[in-house]
Amino acid sequence: MKLKYIVVTGGVMSGLGKGITMASIGRILKNRGYEVVPIKIDPYINIDAGTMNPYQHGEVYVLGDGTEVDLDLGHYERFMDVELTRAHNITTGVVYSAVIERERRGDYLGQTVQIIPHVTDEIKARIRGVAEGSNADICLIEIGGTVGDIESMPFLEAVRQMHCEEEESDFILIHLTLVPLTTLGEPKTKPTQHSVKALRELGLQPDIIVCRGRAVLDEAVKRKIAMFCNVKPDAVISAPDTEDIYEVPLLLEREGIATHIMGKLQLEPLKDDRQWMEMVDRSRAAAASSRRIKVAIVGKYTGLEDSYLSIKEALKHAATETGCRVELKWIEAEELEVEAGAGERDKRQLEPLFADIHGMLVPGGFGVRGAEGKIKAIEYARVKKIPFLGLCFGFQLAVIEVARHIAGLEDANSTELTATTPYPVIDLQEEQKGVNDKGGTMRLGDYEIFIRGDTLAERVYQRRKVIERHRHRYEVNPGYIDVIEERGAVFSGTDRSGLRMEILELEGDQHPFFFATQFHPEFKSRPGRPSPPFKAFVEACMRYEAGHRAVQI
Ligand code: GLN
Repeated sequence: MKLKYIVVTGGVMSGLGKGITMASIGRILKNRGYEVVPIKIDPYINIDAGTMNPYQHGEVYVLGDGTEVDLDLGHYERFMDVELTRAHNITTGVVYSAVIERERRGDYLGQTVQIIPHVTDEIKARIRGVAEGSNADICLIEIGGTVGDIESMPFLEAVRQMHCEEEESDFILIHLTLVPLTTLGEPKTKPTQHSVKALRELGLQPDIIVCRGRAVLDEAVKRKIAMFCNVKPDAVISAPDTEDIYEVPLLLEREGIATHIMGKLQLEPLKDDRQWMEMVDRSRAAAASSRRIKVAIVGKYTGLEDSYLSIKEALKHAATETGCRVELKWIEAEELEVEAGAGERDKRQLEPLFADIHGMLVPGGFGVRGAEGKIKAIEYARVKKIPFLGLCFGFQLAVIEVARHIAGLEDANSTELTATTPYPVIDLQEEQKGVNDKGGTMRLGDYEIFIRGDTLAERVYQRRKVIERHRHRYEVNPGYIDVIEERGAVFSGTDRSGLRMEILELEGDQHPFFFATQFHPEFKSRPGRPSPPFKAFVEACMRYEAGHRAVQI
């Protein structure tokens, strides 16, 4: 089959859910038996998202090959169940640096190097390279930003050219816009009209218009949009807000988007895969279940929940498959910090905050702000036997907590947080020291983890070797492994060499579930296939909740 292309653009404003819409379209096509490959175009100049502030952009998602990308690629991986690489994220920075490098090498043979055709050729070559190099039938391309932005112009021009170069039945353009409501609840179509006008000025006519907004659009509004925007009324798709993003493929199906896409691309369904629908049914049942657990997430940036998006999704996957509802309690770690010596006040602070939780999760992070608060929270979870899951920085802080309070290494710390600690239990590896390039010294992406037999880790994973994604610079200092392990903590997972610690747990029946990982299991969790540490954590929270319910009665 000849490759087909679906391009998704956005109008009016950002943050409308273009990524989720495209991910859902990918899922819909996959359900019909077609292989899909997504590409995310980010018109910013950064080469990748590694150095970008999660407070501004939401979390940095990590791919198997170690590329740090925008969180939309996480949606693609979860919805379409694909594994992506660096090549699936094209930024302005990537394109221009390739063009400039080629110019310096003299490859343009004295030509004047210009946006059209040189930059647009580079964009098209990259898109086609990824599409043709995959085994996909359909390539989906999301153009980040909003139509009309200066930054996205070269990309829109490149897809305009592609449209001319491909057969009419091999190319489809879907435009996502906003239909706001007035205070009286009347839907307004003008922003949509203007954004489609902007698109048409660039030579692009959408085939389908997906209208985001709070309300479902009626036929009259759809007809109006159709008339002004030059599409068929049933190619105007109403996509109102939903509580659960995994419902979006079902919602778009109901609006008939598949009929349009399949019609234009001249495709017949090859199968009718209902697994996604069944997963959504289980998820609805879990959300309505009377079994509820409350999990505290002790972090930084808790003002912006998107900075922990994959963790939230992974908890949801686990809840769906265990049949319970997970409520999150966001706790700003810094607020747990009080001056040294305020011992009594500490207890008063933590008790009421954590009294109603059934589990605690300490996520990844960087830097000193809030770190002591997180350590205090971990100590609380350990002493009170509350199920605890620590991820990356949360793992390192758990090692510090255990070193200080179980192994007796007073003031143990990470050299990331203080250079003068007497016990640097978390430190840079020797070969990393002296390197000071913030973009390049992290251990990123997939690495193997070897699991010790007869441990919680083995019970969690049911295997002795797993692959998980990483994003960290610091490591457990090998010089302290023995003293930490002598006192009942176990590093139950390591790398192949046995020198890098990957999993920490408490031995035997000291604690019902105290589990921390140097890696980020959240990135490999999928709807219907939850990450094993998350599933085991949620199960432990349910046991804790049941135990406490029994005590209260
Ligand atoms: N700051 C820690 C490190 O660099 C942990 C990183 C993280 O949590 N992603 O090793």
